[in-house]
Amino acid sequence: MSAKFEITFAKSVRLSGGLAILLKDIDNELPAGAAIADPANVFAKAARIARYSAKGLNALDIVAPEGSPADRIFVIGGGKVADLNAHDWLKLGGAAAARIKNVEKVAIFLDTPGAEASGKAAADFALGMLLRAYSFDTYKTKKNDDEDKASSKSVKVTIVVANASAAKKVFSDSEAIASGVNLARELVNEPPNVLGPVEFAAKAKELEKLGVEVEILTEREMRRLGMGALLGVAQGSVRPPRLAIMQWKGAKAKDKPVAFIGKGVVFDTGGISIKPAAGMEDMKGDMGGAAAVTGLMHTLAARQAKVNAIGVIGLVENMPDGNAQRPGDIVTSMSGQTIEIINTDAEGRLVLSDALWYTNDRFKPQFMINLATLTGAIMVALGNLHAGLFSNDDQLANQLTAAGLTTNERLWRMPLGRDYDKLIDSKFADMKNTGGRNGGSITAAQFLKRFVQETPWAHLDIAGTAMGSIQDEINQSWGSGFGVRLLDELVRANYESGSEN
Ligand code: MN
Ligand code: ZN
Repeated sequence: MSAKFEITFAKSVRLSGGLAILLKDIDNELPAGAAIADPANVFAKAARIARYSAKGLNALDIVAPEGSPADRIFVIGGGKVADLNAHDWLKLGGAAAARIKNVEKVAIFLDTPGAEASGKAAADFALGMLLRAYSFDTYKTKKNDDEDKASSKSVKVTIVVANASAAKKVFSDSEAIASGVNLARELVNEPPNVLGPVEFAAKAKELEKLGVEVEILTEREMRRLGMGALLGVAQGSVRPPRLAIMQWKGAKAKDKPVAFIGKGVVFDTGGISIKPAAGMEDMKGDMGGAAAVTGLMHTLAARQAKVNAIGVIGLVENMPDGNAQRPGDIVTSMSGQTIEIINTDAEGRLVLSDALWYTNDRFKPQFMINLATLTGAIMVALGNLHAGLFSNDDQLANQLTAAGLTTNERLWRMPLGRDYDKLIDSKFADMKNTGGRNGGSITAAQFLKRFVQETPWAHLDIAGTAMGSIQDEINQSWGSGFGVRLLDELVRANYESGSEN
C-alpha cells in the first residue's frame, strides 16, 4: 500500500500552509475556494501567463502564491462541472491525488456553481483519490526519496463542500468500495510463490472480521462431494486446492441470496499442455476472478449491504508434474457429467464447473455471476477495454451492462447458442474441455452454461481487464480490481432491500 489519505469533509476551512486544491468550472472566472486560498487573485495572472483553460483535468500549479495562506495552490479544470458524471468525479479525484506529494495537509475546494449538492460528487471525488493512492510496493526494499516521504506519513485531507455531512455519509460506502477494490488488486499483484491456494483461502477467512461467514473446503471434502473436474486440475501441483465459501447475510433470512463465483487459478502454467515461456509470469493473475469476488464480499460486508450474498472461489494451481492430468483423461464433475480433457490449459472452466454446480445446488441463488480470466480469445475480440459478458438471462445482462456504464467497467455482450454448444460435444465423454481456436471465448462460455441449469447466470470473461490493464487516473496498478465496483453497483441498484427492482 502507498500514500494514505485521512479524508474529512467540512463546510469551511482555515488555511495555514499546506496544499490547496481548487476546482475550476470552465465558465467561471474564479476557481472554487479562491476567496479563501487566493485572496490576492494570483490565479488570474498565472492563468493568463500559462494560457490556462479549465478543460477537463487541465492543471495549473502555483508555488508559494503571494498573499495566500497556502504554500501551494493547485487548480484543476473540471470542464462544465454541472455536466460531470460519477466517473468524471472519480477521475478528478484521482488526478488531484496524483499531485499530493511531500505535503502533510491538503484542503480541496469543490463548491463551484452548478456542482450538485447531494454530497455524492464530493464522495466520488474522494473515492477517486483512494483508488489512485493504491500502489503495490511490498517487495521493493529501496524507495526513492519522494516515495519515502509520501508513504511514511498519512496525509490529512479536508474536502470543503457545502453539504459536508451528506458527503461524509456517502463516503463511508466509498471507503468500503475502495478497500474492496484495493484488496482485489493486492491479491492479483501478489507473487504466486507467496499466494497459493491455502494462502488465498486464509485471506478469504480474514473477512470474518467484517461479519462474513467463511468456510474452507479441503481436498478431502471436495473429493467426497465428487468435484472431479476441479480436482483434476489441482492434481499436478504439490499445493493442495481449496474451495472458499463466503456468506454475507445482510437481508432477511428468507431472501434468496445472490451468488458470485470466481476462478482462482493461483498460477497457470497450462499444465501438460504447457504455455510458451514469454509472458508466463502474468499467469499469477489467473486468480483475478476469485480476487474480484473476495474484494466484492469485503465491500458488501464493510458497507453493511442489505443483501444476502454468497461468494464461492475455486483455488488451485495448474502445474505439469508426474501426477498432472493428461490430454485424453476423462473426469467426472460434481454434476455427474463427464469431461474429456483435450487441452490441460483450458483449466479455468473445469474449476468453475464444479464451483458453479456446488453453489447452485447448495444455495439455490436468485442468480449466479462468475468472473474468470478465462480466455485469451476475449482479448482478441475486445482488447482490454471491455470484459466479455455471456448470459442466459436478458434482465441480468442488461443490469450488468448498465452497472458497467455507471462504474466505467464496461461489458460487451457476446452470443451463446445451440450451434456453438455442439462444438464441445466429445466422442468419448459428455463434453470436451475445448471447442477449438475459433470462437474460443464462446465455447468456453457454452461449457460453463452446462453447469448452471435454469438459474439466471452471467459469465464475465475478464482476461483482458483484470490485469495488465490500461493505467489511468484511478488505477496505476497491474491488478486492476476490475469487477468489484461493477458488482457492488449491480447489487446497490437492483438487489438490496429498498432498492427499486
Ligand atoms: Mn489455462
Ligand atoms: Zn487459466
